[in-house]
Amino acid sequence: MSIKRLNGVHLKHFKNTESETTVSFPLSAKVILPMGQGMGAPCEPLVNVGDKVFVGQKIGDSDKFMSVPVHSSVSGTVKELRDYALPGGRYCKAVVIESDGKQTVDETIAPPEIKTADDFIKAVRESGAVGLGGAGFPTHVKLRFENHVDTLIINAAECEPYITSDYREMMENPSDVYDGIKLMLEKLNINRAKLCIEKNKPKAIRLFSKMAAKDSALDVVTLPSKYPQGAEKMLLFTATGRVVKENELIAAENAIVVNVSTVAFINRYIKTGMPLISRRLTVDGDAVGMPCNIEVLLGTTIKDILDYSNAKDYRKLIMGGPMMGVCMVDPEAPVIKTHNALLALKSDTLYKSTPCIRCGKCIKACPMNLMPTELEKAYHAKSREQLTALRVNLCMNCGACSYVCPAKRPLAETNCLSKEFLRNTAQK
Ligand code: SF4
Ligand code: SF4
Repeated sequence: MSIKRLNGVHLKHFKNTESETTVSFPLSAKVILPMGQGMGAPCEPLVNVGDKVFVGQKIGDSDKFMSVPVHSSVSGTVKELRDYALPGGRYCKAVVIESDGKQTVDETIAPPEIKTADDFIKAVRESGAVGLGGAGFPTHVKLRFENHVDTLIINAAECEPYITSDYREMMENPSDVYDGIKLMLEKLNINRAKLCIEKNKPKAIRLFSKMAAKDSALDVVTLPSKYPQGAEKMLLFTATGRVVKENELIAAENAIVVNVSTVAFINRYIKTGMPLISRRLTVDGDAVGMPCNIEVLLGTTIKDILDYSNAKDYRKLIMGGPMMGVCMVDPEAPVIKTHNALLALKSDTLYKSTPCIRCGKCIKACPMNLMPTELEKAYHAKSREQLTALRVNLCMNCGACSYVCPAKRPLAETNCLSKEFLRNTAQK
């Protein structure tokens, strides 16, 4: 079971902010910087309460392979080291910094010296880069492939409703995107790049097709507008026809996939040495009075952003898109590297599930050709054998099955529980 044809669903889009030029979000009085801001193990704080810190200063690091450092987004004083709950229930430390309002840049900030591919990958790690599309996979790990990679795929699908942050990156900083692609091809010795954009972004497709016309190493691929087109395995299949085998990484198919905003950020980092201390965030939803794209310092609280965007009467907050985003319960939580959108919605409808009517819509929608309805039964039967045979491990929790189910069965959510069940019973 894997991608053999392009399944998925057509979603109604609310790209209300696609024409909104990004504005710089005002400096907040304090920032909260969790030591876990991506997929890797959380960092350990390198600062103590009372320390003075500067913009771009490294304040957390770890020697774990998947970790990337965390840097201060403001100059000021460390006020507190507190426990912080990560999505999924793990805890890490968070560094709370009171801003001095001066934004004094750390004196060590300088463009990294790069001679070899290894220097480049180490620099990417030091930049604090993780996938800015939301998944938070550490970028330096992705670049450390062992077999030959012939294709760099740039993910500019942005297939979730509402989110326009990658689109604004392409429209506002096209040369950072283009130079970042060229830099990665050169430093990693990859032959060609495919910039993959969903067809509902015609201006970006035109802009980059013009740039690519003079460059034989770059193709612009127009993707169908279908969710979850931005999922890596789907993207690889659409862009190259290659299919990733079970338990293999994309690199096994001689390709790597990097998010478009990540590529542009890496280009800026290599030029300036300023690590990842801010990011673009789409702020939208029916409770938001002023939908916008903002460039916001990491650690800024959601509450500050809701006040700024005139959000009122919201009953549900989501960081990310409505399909794969994470519901937030605490408006005092900070923006971290993986947040590409903040949605404030007036409704928090809880659907009541009814019995499965065996319509098969969930199976047709699943991009991984899984059988969500059978997986749900296997979970309720607590059958390790059936869950394994039905390949629940391949579920990417895209939510397409739950979205199409007329009986409102929580299929994607059940798959999360199934994977947890398999992990918890692995040794028994
Ligand atoms: S959540 Fe999992 S099972 Fe459901 S459609 Fe997505 S990949 Fe398939
Ligand atoms: S979409 Fe819902 S009702 Fe239809 S087969 Fe799947 S689980 Fe059953």
